[in-house]
Amino acid sequence: MSEVSMEKIVSLCKRRGFIYPGSEIYGGLSGTWDWGPMGVELKNNVKNLWWRMFVQERDDMYGVDAAILMNPMAWEASGHVSGFSDPLVECKKCKKRFRADQVGKECPECGGALGEVKQFNMMFKTQVGATEDPSAITYLRPETAGGIFVNFKNVVDSFHPKLPFGVAQIGKAFRNEIAPRDFIFRVRELEQMEVEYFVRPEEWESAFEEWRKNVHAFNDAVGIPKSAVHELEVPDGERAHYSKRTIDFEFDWPFGRKELYGLAYRTDFDLSAHAKGSGQDLSYLDEETKQKFIPHVIEPSFGVDRTILALLISAYAEDELGSSSAPPSPKATDGHGKASEDKGEKRVFLRFNKAVAPVKAAVFPLLKNKPELVSKAREVYEMLKKVQPQIMWDDNGNIGKRYRRQDEIGTPVCITIDFDTLGDPSTSSGQAKPELKDTVTLRNRDTGEQERVSIDSLAARIA
Ligand code: ATP
Repeated sequence: MSEVSMEKIVSLCKRRGFIYPGSEIYGGLSGTWDWGPMGVELKNNVKNLWWRMFVQERDDMYGVDAAILMNPMAWEASGHVSGFSDPLVECKKCKKRFRADQVGKECPECGGALGEVKQFNMMFKTQVGATEDPSAITYLRPETAGGIFVNFKNVVDSFHPKLPFGVAQIGKAFRNEIAPRDFIFRVRELEQMEVEYFVRPEEWESAFEEWRKNVHAFNDAVGIPKSAVHELEVPDGERAHYSKRTIDFEFDWPFGRKELYGLAYRTDFDLSAHAKGSGQDLSYLDEETKQKFIPHVIEPSFGVDRTILALLISAYAEDELGSSSAPPSPKATDGHGKASEDKGEKRVFLRFNKAVAPVKAAVFPLLKNKPELVSKAREVYEMLKKVQPQIMWDDNGNIGKRYRRQDEIGTPVCITIDFDTLGDPSTSSGQAKPELKDTVTLRNRDTGEQERVSIDSLAARIA
């Protein structure tokens, strides 16, 4: 289990603008969370990295963005209307409801007896159009996969891809979870990144192995350590209705080892079911062998919310400044030779890698009330922002406070413009060192180490 507590993660996320409780001023809405300015950047970085890795950098992948509302026949055909349910029990005494597989014989709240187990369908129902007619009922999609399967024929007709090939989608999915819990681990409105990788039936095992490796490669790229992820072969009888083989990739959360991602061999279940349900021919014609058949499918399914939670937990760190064995180096000073960071100060920081960090670098003028420092810092800021838009400006409070704030959002480096940068003796009590003109201090988040570097070298360092 991870050592960091969920309380610390939840409170950091709120304090620093990553994630807020949904509709908070109205007392919240269970199972929903709102993404704040830092959260959106982090989430977009993760999604972009995934898209780049699994769609843009490959020749065998096609991206789609299908509607969340779909014809209800699609969910009937896929088996979700009849089978996408969790076991529900109600306490006879306090009437609270629980997932039967998560409780014992007694009510965990009041100790009362639990009633009989019923299947509860987790799809959110809604109505399409200005009518109360039952035929207008449809569902918010419970997984993005559905939107991929119904577009299989479209992608084949537009691009004539050769097997094996995949179709990928990132988007929202909705599940009316009986017991949303553990922050963004189990929510009712979630986001998924899914691939349906279509193969010849006899190729499924090699494709399954390839995607198993790809899941680990993605974890590596975002910064989820291998040591915290464990594969679980899901036994017969416990897999989803469409799957012949499933591996759950489990993560060591503070609340125990539970699913992070899933990898499933869905056979030809979905395409066959949609062919039957829609009356359309969803088979594939192999141009070489002239064989016609329904492809089988390997599905890696990544939850965006769980990725972000795993990242936050993996990146979270606390230390005392100066506890690293970094050698002393020239610090940004306030013009009177005072070091800008106090040794031994306790701090919290997020060790995000550069690819996912919501802010890649922060730019500070040493003092906010010295126009010459501010305008030079602004110049550096504007220049860097053109190279990398995830750059933040901060002139609020002393430098130490600004470092603490950036540490807590995981900014890899802070750049401080001081009197030495200006190289003008009249502004630095006659102590300017001409050789330092147009240099800045670059402070490293993880070590607290500072180095003096030229402004010209900054763009390459943050790119
Ligand atoms: P669980 O057993 O935890 O309910 P599941 O097996 O139902 O998950 P899948 O149907 O395989 O999950 O969904 C694929 C991925 O979508 C999961 O691995 C997870 O990352 C994400 N996911 C599913 N349900 C939720 C949820 N309620 N909140 C957040 N993420 C979810």
